[in-house]
Amino acid sequence: MADDIERARELIAGAQRVTVLTGAGISTDSGIPDFRGPQGVWTKNPAAELIWNYDNYRADPEVRREAWRDRVDHPMFTAVPGPAHEALVALERSGKLLALLTQNIDGLHQKAGSSASLVAELHGSNHGTVCLTCGAVAPMADALERVRAGDDDPTCERCGGVLKATTIMFGEMLDVDVLTRARDAALACDRFLAIGTSLGVHPAAGLVGVAAQVGAEVIIVNAEPTPYDDVASVVLRGGISEVLPEVLRL
Ligand code: NAD
Repeated sequence: MADDIERARELIAGAQRVTVLTGAGISTDSGIPDFRGPQGVWTKNPAAELIWNYDNYRADPEVRREAWRDRVDHPMFTAVPGPAHEALVALERSGKLLALLTQNIDGLHQKAGSSASLVAELHGSNHGTVCLTCGAVAPMADALERVRAGDDDPTCERCGGVLKATTIMFGEMLDVDVLTRARDAALACDRFLAIGTSLGVHPAAGLVGVAAQVGAEVIIVNAEPTPYDDVASVVLRGGISEVLPEVLRL
């Protein structure tokens, strides 16, 4: 492991343009469970995946009620960034960070101090709501206040339509501009760092392959194997909060 960390440090030291892709694993030490890790929400309860399906959510009020119940006291809204989020802020300060692509919806990169202009939220953000009828966007905090006051399926205050988080659910398309930006960053980097993601959700996972194909050296930091380990120059299996600050000690 020490040799691998050293190799990863050398790769970052020699980098000019680093693109980073993060997943739920970077936030587990901040108290936000991932989906597919050993303590993951779906590992423990596979049926929970149903509330992340757009058609189910739109059609079924009970699915929505469960989603709001699940969200109202979710640790995501009070979590604080950890050492790995902070290490990525240091990477930005070094001038090497081209883009910070995240599958996370928790906003912890921005809370840590990463520049919003460098962060691309591939799967959206849990900090807003959108009306599925009129498209009105509002802060998530407003909807959660109504849930706490007893409204178990809050609707749009403008038109009464179904409200959903500004996240991308299964069955929805990713935002084309965000995805284009992410692809461009994968094509233009000389190092691609994938952190805390099982690399099982496409098209986000495919960005690793895009970067590898154009010759970027890939570094993967994840506790469990991923489908892209064989294209990586270095795979680091330790805990992210310990390993990433070591690798990025710039
Ligand atoms: P995932 O749950 O599929 O995989 C997370 C990976 O991180 C696992 O392989 C796990 O072994 C690893 N991991 C967890 N904690 C770790 C640690 N401390 N050190 C090292 N490795 C660790 O997550 P994913 O690939 O991001 O895909 C899941 C989807 O779920 C994403 O689209 C994301 O939008 C969403 N999600 C987001 C959050 C969040 O915003 N924090 C939380 C849960 C799920």
